[in-house]
Amino acid sequence: MNKLDALPNILLLGPGPSGTHPEVYRALTSPTLGHLDPVFISLMDELKGMLQQLTHTRNEVTFPVSGTGSAGMEAGFVNFIEPGDSVLVLINGVFGMRMKDVAERLGARVDSLEFDWGTPVDPEAVKARLATRSYDLVAVVHAETSTGVRNPLDEIAPLVRASGALFLVDSVTGLGGIPVTLDDWGVDVFYSGTQKCLACPPGLAPFSASPRAIKRLQNRRGKVPNWYLDLSMIVNYWAGEKRAYHHTAPINMIYGLHAAVRVILEEGEDAVIARHQSAHEALVTGLEDLGLELLVAPGHRLPMLNAVKVPEGVDEAGVRAAMLRDHGIEFGAGLGPLAGKIWRIGLMGHNARPEVVSRCLEALGACL
Ligand code: PLP
Repeated sequence: MNKLDALPNILLLGPGPSGTHPEVYRALTSPTLGHLDPVFISLMDELKGMLQQLTHTRNEVTFPVSGTGSAGMEAGFVNFIEPGDSVLVLINGVFGMRMKDVAERLGARVDSLEFDWGTPVDPEAVKARLATRSYDLVAVVHAETSTGVRNPLDEIAPLVRASGALFLVDSVTGLGGIPVTLDDWGVDVFYSGTQKCLACPPGLAPFSASPRAIKRLQNRRGKVPNWYLDLSMIVNYWAGEKRAYHHTAPINMIYGLHAAVRVILEEGEDAVIARHQSAHEALVTGLEDLGLELLVAPGHRLPMLNAVKVPEGVDEAGVRAAMLRDHGIEFGAGLGPLAGKIWRIGLMGHNARPEVVSRCLEALGACL
């Protein structure tokens, strides 16, 4: 038997991938066009415009990097950092740590400010550090998927902007579920991923770079040390009258992302954000009724990623296994210091709906 004909239909309530929207599935199966076909190029242009709209930016360099969120992270550092550059990474979870690793591999002098996992980045600490040292780039994760913390971008952004450093923001998990306002924040380098609140399979990293960042790229001392992610070449495919082949674009994934962003803009960004928030609130109420607590204090919680403390005496992995086996629902486990201590329940994109919350709570109650 062909295994693909017998795949289980799992309700994906982990940290991503989330469930794919039916319109996205439909788009993925549309006829594959050539990567220089004029119809495809007009679709690329439309997608760039919709990504600009969703991220609230006028940045011309706004397009999906080929690859998952990590490709976005690599592209974000490899293009704008050179050996010896000074970088500050604000860390309160796995993905902040990964950024530090990426920047160190490029030969940057990397400092970090670390905060307890489950708590947000403290803007006062950022302010104090930026008052004593200057950096070429400051990086932060907007929505820390490993802990369920929403970092206070509204407070951090003006501090970084005033310091003169380039500001790099990862919103792999935030985009499409909480506001992302690149130009208001003064973000210079941004990336996201398709498989969270955009309700599209993994495979692309929506990306944006400000004119200031592009100037930094143009004035580099040396070549970008990565051919595939070198923006100075990729932009010749994504912009201009005459498009130049760089690598073959993942055509059908681009259809999928086009549909995913269109669906969000048609529902309305505010409505989508409100839907994530109300699904989160319903989940929290239901979890509390089951006697469960969240890791993160109210006010710092991500609506789309709920870190739930595993009660004393409960088999963390056993509950996840039973949820999957008996109810067809996937939860995520804790990472690093939170392994065995939390479940990560994602209500992302198409799964941020009341009927999904009810199904989740009913199943979890039964498993507990
Ligand atoms: N950054 C954050 C905040 C993430 O949550 C993830 C993935 O979960 C990544 C980066 C890496 O993305 P990917 O796994 O799609 O490569």
